Amino acid sequence: MLPYQQAREKVIEVVTARLALRPALATEEAELSAALGRVLAVEVRADRDYPPFNRSTRDGFAVRAADLAKLPATLEVVGEIKAGDAFTGQVRPGQCVQIMTGAAVPPGTDSVVMIEHAKPSGTRVGFERPVERGQNVVPRGSEAKTGQLLLSPGALLGYPEVSALAQVGQGVVRVYRKPRVAILSTGDEVVDVGAQPGPFQIRNSNSLTLAAQTTLAGAEPVVLGNAPDRVDEIRARIERGLAEDILVLSGGVSAGKYDYVGTVLRELGAEFVFDAVAIRPGRPAVFGVCRDNFVFGLPGNPVSTMVTFELFVLPAIEMLRGALPRPLTVFKAKLAEPVRQKTALTHFLPAEITWPGGEPTVRELPWQGSGDIVALLRANCFLVVSPEHLEISAGDWVDVLPRRGAF
Ligand code: AMP
Ligand code: MG
Repeated sequence: MLPYQQAREKVIEVVTARLALRPALATEEAELSAALGRVLAVEVRADRDYPPFNRSTRDGFAVRAADLAKLPATLEVVGEIKAGDAFTGQVRPGQCVQIMTGAAVPPGTDSVVMIEHAKPSGTRVGFERPVERGQNVVPRGSEAKTGQLLLSPGALLGYPEVSALAQVGQGVVRVYRKPRVAILSTGDEVVDVGAQPGPFQIRNSNSLTLAAQTTLAGAEPVVLGNAPDRVDEIRARIERGLAEDILVLSGGVSAGKYDYVGTVLRELGAEFVFDAVAIRPGRPAVFGVCRDNFVFGLPGNPVSTMVTFELFVLPAIEMLRGALPRPLTVFKAKLAEPVRQKTALTHFLPAEITWPGGEPTVRELPWQGSGDIVALLRANCFLVVSPEHLEISAGDWVDVLPRRGAF
């Protein structure tokens, strides 16, 4: 059985290879105001120098540093400039200009003395401290030169990227189309969220969980409801799901008598890349390619579904949305209480990380196994127990996988 790291690499390998055979990913235009979280499809370059002029970073006086070589010094104030204005006069030795933050440092001056370090009196101003040439001035073009590459295709648009795009005047940006992820749950016992379940039925939480994870991943969920455990029903819905970029199924992938997902996918000609991973929860996770579409069969237990989505579906979505798959972010934290597992698998245990005294400290939360959604409500991370170290003592440093969106 594959370790999860290898299974994840297989997903990346297979998706990369398939994408290389296809035409380039589709793109569309997005208003910058709605582009947060999208992936850029083009290069973005500076439209002019940044800053576009020698910019003062302080309110104060624009001076020549040379005039303050001998202290104390007194200079004549020959004008004033605020942000947005142009200074038309000439500044000669022995003169200075009152300047505001964000204004262009006038020709003839090279430095700005902050107002707090100046002693204005009438049309003159006294200085007692030395100034370094260029102090409190950001030179034109020092942040970026005209034409300089700022962002490349594949860049994820977070708020600094939105800021840079706004700065260079790109109110509309070309981004990759969001991949569409079909979500299909299976199980005779599963009823709609709005329905009143019978005594032994359960509501379809997985479809909405997977839709939420999909949205959080920057893709478009297409929820196809629930298929009962019948081959014909499952086949029809899978066929529908194969119209989307990715199909994610929940349930029906274990070795139970009514677990038909694998059988149906096989019938439809799916090539399986893996059909089990050495993890708990989530061991029976399936990944394959069916009619050139990517299909994930995730186990139905809600925590298994969540964990396997994060480990395996997420990198596929990232590649299909035009980004590079980000490495799994696993941090180290100090274990608060000992942990012991018996089965030689990688365990992902719902856990809580806190920072008492500034040190990351993690503790496993009590839970009833992979069906326990309630335990997840308190979890802000998963404690990762590797098959090589199933017993970990308090105080040891352990791997922690943060829950996406929890921090
Ligand atoms: P399965 O993988 O089909 O054997 O299902 C494993 C467990 O997950 C069973 O206890 C199911 O009732 C539960 N389960 C399956 N599908 C869902 C779903 N859509 N929402 C919530 N729980 C589910
Ligand atoms: Mg089932």
